[in-house]
Amino acid sequence: MQFAYDDQNIFAKILRGDIPNSTVFENDHALAFKDIAPQAPVHVLVIPKGAYVSLDDFAANASAAEQAGFFAAVAAVCEISGVEEGFRAVANARTHGVQEVPHFHMHIVGGKQLGRMLPA
Ligand code: 5GP
Repeated sequence: MQFAYDDQNIFAKILRGDIPNSTVFENDHALAFKDIAPQAPVHVLVIPKGAYVSLDDFAANASAAEQAGFFAAVAAVCEISGVEEGFRAVANARTHGVQEVPHFHMHIVGGKQLGRMLPA
């Protein structure tokens, strides 16, 4: 599996500070910010600061510290965002997964009753 990373993707630009974002949480290894087109009252994107294309790239190649930092950010976002009644975590990958931005990101979506995970 090849994981060529395009450093011109929009999240790379956010990480470089080239374009603004609405930051929810940040640590040494991850940044969490509000999705620009929210699908629910809570819609936060958690991204690693490292150059990983997708979940499988991150899982296979990120260091233990990067992975721990990423999931610490996920935990913080869930704590901060008021999703005690539940949420959905989604990571789209490549073409079949309809991934638009080729920098690994996890959507944290909640704040209302969600529908079934996948349409019939
Ligand atoms: P994907 O389809 O790749 O899983 O999701 C990409 C997400 O990034 C979409 O939900 C989209 O609304 C969001 N997005 C795209 N461009 C920007 C941006 O410039 N800023 C923010 N905050 N979100 C963005």
